[in-house]
Amino acid sequence: MDNYKPFWVSVQAWGVKKQGGWYNTGVQKIILYYKFTPITDPEAIRLWQRTLCEKLHLKGRILISVHGINGTVGGELDDVKQYVKETKQFGGFKDTTFKWSEGSRDHFPKLQVRVRPEIVSFGVADELKVDATGVVGSGKHLKPTEVNELVNRYGDDVVFFDGRNAYEAAVGRFKNAVVPNTRTSYDFVTELDSGSYDNLKSKKVVTYCTGGVRCEILSAMMKNRGFEDVYQIDGGIVKYGEQYGDEGLWEGSLYVFDDRMGLKFSDKAVDIGECIHCKAKTSNYENCALATCNKLVLICETCRQDTAKLFHTEVCQASAKTGANA
Ligand SMILES: [Zn+2]
Ligand SMILES: [Zn+2]
Repeated sequence: MDNYKPFWVSVQAWGVKKQGGWYNTGVQKIILYYKFTPITDPEAIRLWQRTLCEKLHLKGRILISVHGINGTVGGELDDVKQYVKETKQFGGFKDTTFKWSEGSRDHFPKLQVRVRPEIVSFGVADELKVDATGVVGSGKHLKPTEVNELVNRYGDDVVFFDGRNAYEAAVGRFKNAVVPNTRTSYDFVTELDSGSYDNLKSKKVVTYCTGGVRCEILSAMMKNRGFEDVYQIDGGIVKYGEQYGDEGLWEGSLYVFDDRMGLKFSDKAVDIGECIHCKAKTSNYENCALATCNKLVLICETCRQDTAKLFHTEVCQASAKTGANA
């Protein structure tokens, strides 16, 4: 999955276990990064990264494939700095951008370093080509200001294309964005091949996702399928939001994969999602209270006060009552 949990978290650990003993820690940090670069021996990289993280007592998740590396790790500041320094010593990772974020190693259950067919799972491992400059044939990178310039200049000829899952787009998206019907990133191939978006092939298409990694691949997939003029936003919605907040072309909240589920860039953020019960505007996601259903649905702050409405349908509520799934 391309969805991993710990983003902008601010948990400060008071004590951690290190080399058999407990003691108070200093400042901890999390870093997020990805790098598309050819890797001839992913297993060797995995062993090296695993040993490095263990040496520095980092926890988190790192995926490695023949296309590159995608990771999030946390630990003590000095250890994380050392991790960055040593990771950059591998030629292909030299100019990787590491995004620093609040958080600690204990936000992760453990250290996972794995070799996978893809570092972001679109199901296009064989299609994706990577060289020393990154993904071959991906969309042109735009800085947030360049996104607005493009729209100012070309107006309706610019189309935003959401590179995330439909439930992420339900609470926040660029104005007038096209939102494909996707439950996971694997659904993009089918969506693009369906012909539903062929009318966009001659337009200027700006793909966007949370931090940009998904669009590196999606924009290349689109160009491979005949979309002529494809762009991607440098640093994704996060960077755009840092620059424009709710004063630009973005609308709503940014879905994040942690307990908060939605980030608002300012108190001017609007709710664009709809409560499944009363249709009121909301950005509040809940999992259906029936454990065996657990479906992620939008339930407004008023409805969520009613325990019956924490079930996403009456059927789910009824099966909880009969104890069938209790
Ligand atoms: Zn409601
Ligand atoms: Zn349900």
